[in-house]
Amino acid sequence: MKFLEHEAKLVFADNGIPVPHGVLIRSADELAGHLDTLPFEFVLKAQVDVGGRGKAGGILMADKKNGVATARDLFGTTIKGVPVREILAEERLEILHEYFASIAVDRSTKEALILFTEEGGVDIETLARERPSAIRRASVSLLMTEIPPFMLRDLIGKAPKEAGKILQSLYTVFRRKDAVLAEINPLVTTPSGIFAADAKLIVDDNALKRQGISQNRDLTEREREAEKHGFSYVELIGNIGVIGNGAGLTMATLDLIDFFDGKAANFLDVGGGADQERVKHAVQLVAGVPSVRVIIVNLLGGITRCDEVARGIIDAGISQEVIVRLAGTNEEEGKCLLMEKGYRMLDSMEQAVRAAVEAVR
Ligand code: GDP
Ligand code: MN
Repeated sequence: MKFLEHEAKLVFADNGIPVPHGVLIRSADELAGHLDTLPFEFVLKAQVDVGGRGKAGGILMADKKNGVATARDLFGTTIKGVPVREILAEERLEILHEYFASIAVDRSTKEALILFTEEGGVDIETLARERPSAIRRASVSLLMTEIPPFMLRDLIGKAPKEAGKILQSLYTVFRRKDAVLAEINPLVTTPSGIFAADAKLIVDDNALKRQGISQNRDLTEREREAEKHGFSYVELIGNIGVIGNGAGLTMATLDLIDFFDGKAANFLDVGGGADQERVKHAVQLVAGVPSVRVIIVNLLGGITRCDEVARGIIDAGISQEVIVRLAGTNEEEGKCLLMEKGYRMLDSMEQAVRAAVEAVR
């Protein structure tokens, strides 16, 4: 789950990383009440989860005279389609130099990949493409509680030694927060010291419980609904809805759709022993995706009973066609129920998937 800048800055500050003084506001009027805690000149930073926010107009310079009006303007805009609901009003920094510091999970080595460059700022992707050697990198085993000092010195190069301390603290944040990414871009030097001018923190979704985060805000409304029912559910971009039981069977269904040149709209694993109600919820959930034109239900009856599944499908009463492949416990009974209602049933999953792909052509 992604933290917004102001949330990430709180975490960074708690771990000894200097951040600019600022206040979070939810309306322009709220800013008026905080003006005496801010210096004459400050910046207004839209708290939206989009990259390149500065370039997209999400960061405005302001002062005590025009601040409230500027905040009002910013609250009225959308940044890359995202409405501005919160603004971080922060002391304006007199930036002397911008650095870039980042720690991410390297999935190939299963280690922390640390990046640092003296050429920070907004366009790190361009730098990485055009002059990759300008970005120094090091890998650290996550079993290490600290970045070894020699590695730290190599990483920061000629940057002030405070940058090394900050990088070390960033590594502490990274480990403590079960992060997949902790990043400061830019890390800036100013006449009054060094600061994390921006902050990015993404916590591993699998660690949310351990981190005491009860709700993953990054989920779509439908993904949240699926979580409530205990379905494993992932949204994709195609038009064929997919319901299966067991991750293996559901994945195999996706693979077959791809094999026949179709595009799956989602992955929904109802889990073991799904009864009528569960199947009904699953079918309705998938049918609610606007792009879904046909649904394939591919279920294997073990503890799951095919007649329950059939009743659930019928009960869902959706408008799209449902193509069914059922095998196992109470198969005949399930098939009879569906047959009576005119559902298309196919004996093998190859046939069923092919039929679904053809149905959307
Ligand atoms: P991003 O576009 O979402 O990455 O937003 P950042 O917070 O990184 O800001 C983008 C750029 O705006 C920075 O690289 C700075 O050049 C500039 N910026 C941000 N805050 C300040 C500030 O307090 N003073 C000055 N002079 N520039 C700032
Ligand atoms: Mn930034």
